[in-house]
Amino acid sequence: MRRPLIAGNWKMNGSAALVEAFGKVFADAKLPADVDMVVIPPFPYLDAARHAFSNTPLRLGAQTLNPLHSGAHTGEVSGRMLKEFDVAYALVGHSERRQLYRETDEQVFERLMAALEVGMSPILCVGETLEERDAGHTMDVVLRQVGHVMARLEAAQRCEVIIAYEPVWAIGTGRTATPEQAQDVMAGIRAYQASFDTSLAEQLRLLYGGSMNANNAAELLAQPDIDGGLVGGASLKTDDFYAICQSA
Ligand code: PGA
Repeated sequence: MRRPLIAGNWKMNGSAALVEAFGKVFADAKLPADVDMVVIPPFPYLDAARHAFSNTPLRLGAQTLNPLHSGAHTGEVSGRMLKEFDVAYALVGHSERRQLYRETDEQVFERLMAALEVGMSPILCVGETLEERDAGHTMDVVLRQVGHVMARLEAAQRCEVIIAYEPVWAIGTGRTATPEQAQDVMAGIRAYQASFDTSLAEQLRLLYGGSMNANNAAELLAQPDIDGGLVGGASLKTDDFYAICQSA
């Protein structure tokens, strides 16, 4: 059985006070023992979060990383640095990085390799825009993004990767994909993975992202190929994130 994973991507939001609040709520709360729970705050909060979450099951993730270990790259942060703060997961290829910072499939691949190199689990984000969906290109786009990375990995690396399917039109819009729409794409990703190795495909953890909240999480997570969620807006409220973790 695949272990469910709920990850909260704070994006460029949150505060030191919110880190403290999560630490308190999750230390006192009764949480499912068989669910991985991850908070992905902006870099400046990682150290405080590491301390605040020490009595909780919450693990830490990074929103991006530079492919290099160190060097003259003003403003960038490397995987090696993130590891010093017990960061266990790294998002790569989030659609906001692809769109706002022009990250290419190749750069996404390099970042994913950098995460693997330092022993972090990469969460590879993929998804189509509304125009691409309307033109009937959803599966082509998603499998291009997945394939650019997966086809070049060794089997041992492939099983470390988690994939988040996030339709761009559902991110931050309040317009969630229907469970059937999400399930269709997830099944397609798993089938693609099976073209490399069927047992790896069975183990691959697939997350849905895009306006997931406390009200719609259970229905999405009940789909056979959805193993968890990548939650944006709703991960900024302790109660909502807690409720989503409970429904996993
Ligand atoms: P959202 O963001 O839940 O606010 O739609 C999801 C994401 O971008 O990871």
